[in-house]
Amino acid sequence: MTTSTLPGHPHFSYRGDALFAEDVAVSRLAAEFGTPLFVYSKASMLDALAAYQRGFEGRAAKICYAMKANSSLAILQVFARAGCGFDIVSGGELERVLAVGGAPSDIIFSGVGKTRAEMQRALALGIGCFNVESEPELDVLNAVAVAAGKVAPVSIRVNPDVDPKTHPYISTGLKGNKFGVAHDRTLAAYRHAAALPGLKVVGIDCHIGSQITTEAPYLDTMDRMLDLVQAIESAGIALKHIDFGGGLGISYNGDQPPQADALWHKLLAKVDARGFGDRQLMIEPGRSLVGNAGLCLTEVLYLKPGESKNFCIVDAAMNDLPRPAMYQAFHAIVPAQRSTGTPHTYDVVGPVCESGDWIGRDRELAVEPGSHLAVLSAGAYCMSMASNYNTRGRAAEVLVDGTSATLIRERETPADQMRSERLVS
Ligand SMILES: *Cc1c(COP(=O)(O)O)cnc(C)c1O
Repeated sequence: MTTSTLPGHPHFSYRGDALFAEDVAVSRLAAEFGTPLFVYSKASMLDALAAYQRGFEGRAAKICYAMKANSSLAILQVFARAGCGFDIVSGGELERVLAVGGAPSDIIFSGVGKTRAEMQRALALGIGCFNVESEPELDVLNAVAVAAGKVAPVSIRVNPDVDPKTHPYISTGLKGNKFGVAHDRTLAAYRHAAALPGLKVVGIDCHIGSQITTEAPYLDTMDRMLDLVQAIESAGIALKHIDFGGGLGISYNGDQPPQADALWHKLLAKVDARGFGDRQLMIEPGRSLVGNAGLCLTEVLYLKPGESKNFCIVDAAMNDLPRPAMYQAFHAIVPAQRSTGTPHTYDVVGPVCESGDWIGRDRELAVEPGSHLAVLSAGAYCMSMASNYNTRGRAAEVLVDGTSATLIRERETPADQMRSERLVS
């Protein structure tokens, strides 16, 4: 029996004609847990993390997993046990980190719209750093901290005005974006922060976008960030850490993003050349740690020939896999069991009542009703963005580790969905 690994997905392979996640046949998982089903490979997650760890070997560095990519508790546990901190963007994410025993001091809190209540809770717990995104937020955080008798550790998120050359909805470091403090306001914002009694400046951060597949935007951003570090420190404000954000892309469709270790080798050379090699470095990767560690298994319900298109209607939909509908994103779709049947060209679509509910267009597939398909690269920004639209329960999730497969989230039931609703009298 021949084994062939899926390109870009080292722990997913065909053994003969059966698709495996590590040492588990995915058809077996579909039979046992039903579909749609997210299947994650723990080894893939740890491999992706190891590339960053290699890049930072011998350095004072902290990898904070940007958990909005996939915030399922067992996924967080894997990263917490592997030594990661967390980058959070809401009070809800903060509670998830606590639920898996993550240390508050290993948390950084990003986001343009933090509420006072979120700030109070994070301060009371002693989180590591607030990544502040505007000058008004500095004043609100200061007021909240003074009222609580605390001092909030802050970093200011700089908008470096660099084009990450990615989809406009996931580009965040350009002048017109809502994120961060404008590059030319940065020094003034730091002076303001340093003068506020409830704040202690500890670092500087940026995050220029997501699914970045070339290294040039990162190299440019590093130059611009280091210019700012120099200017801020010349103004007498010490920066303990430099946080470079996340955003490294993954291969969805043969893309060849930079490798984390090679990219960081180049970025660290710049840090050293400018004499900032002794600063603590932080990064906030999300997608690149989990994106290609997960797939979504779905069952073919109907094949529907049409005049201009053939449709392959599956039991997963835009509520499970929102990226195609949101960003016209591409996910590879492969069979759980390869067949010798004649392939036809299909649009793979879900049951949701929206024409935007498609998962893949013009795919060559040899399938019949009851076949299982695997939608690849579904580890990031799928389950964490899933909704209940059409009162569809969110999918179940399984974590594979070698030969073992553990259910880490039960399939959501209609009763789960209605639990917090009330009838009128
Ligand atoms: C979303 C986000 C990240 C992670 O982005 P990826 O593209 O998933 O790596 C990091 N930092 C901040 C502030 C974010 O909002």
